[in-house]
Amino acid sequence: MDFQKLRLTGFKSFVEPTDFDILPGLTGIVGPNGCGKSNLLEALRWVMGATSAKALRAGGMEDVIFAGTGTAEHPGRPGRSWAEVSLHLDNENRSAPAQYNEHPMLEVTRRITKKAEGTTSTYRINGKEVRAKDVQLLFADAASGANSPSLVRQGQVSELINAKPENRRKFLEEAAGVTGLHVRRHEAELR
Ligand code: ATP
Ligand code: MG
Repeated sequence: MDFQKLRLTGFKSFVEPTDFDILPGLTGIVGPNGCGKSNLLEALRWVMGATSAKALRAGGMEDVIFAGTGTAEHPGRPGRSWAEVSLHLDNENRSAPAQYNEHPMLEVTRRITKKAEGTTSTYRINGKEVRAKDVQLLFADAASGANSPSLVRQGQVSELINAKPENRRKFLEEAAGVTGLHVRRHEAELR
């Protein structure tokens, strides 16, 4: 499953629809402080089903929605009421779970909408609404996933060095790729 394209709309500082083509090989993101480099990685985590607001540097999930710019004296762009991130995946080599074998391309979309009664969150795979769990499972075995060790947050290396042994073990299990098995076993036990 190769990541091909990430599209952000109203997510954090990316207010207008913004596409990032992800080419084969190593991708580097460079830019001045505050230009949105970390926001981009958080978008990737978020669309893969991240549930921890802290990992997204957000107080609550609705904080990922573009909050507007400017001050009372110097108003800028108004905030948005929703945010959406889509990730296009190449499944030509059928490395996604078998249930997706008919799909050479997968488009995973997560959307959050602010409403008076709270926020609603929806996930879609190729346009069809699915559960958060379906999206998390899609990525659980691949060396990706919202909590994957292949996505290293700013400051995370020093956090890991100072971590308690059991937390460090969790991280190593992720890195070894056994977490997908744990998640599936948990799912099976619930049934
Ligand atoms: P550094 O090099 O310092 O790590 P960076 O490129 O990683 O910087 P980010 O942390 O991705 O930068 O982006 C920070 C910017 O995103 C800030 O200007 C912040 O105001 C903006 N931002 C974060 N959340 C929102 C939001 N919900 N609405 C609007 N802007 C936001
Ligand atoms: Mg950063």
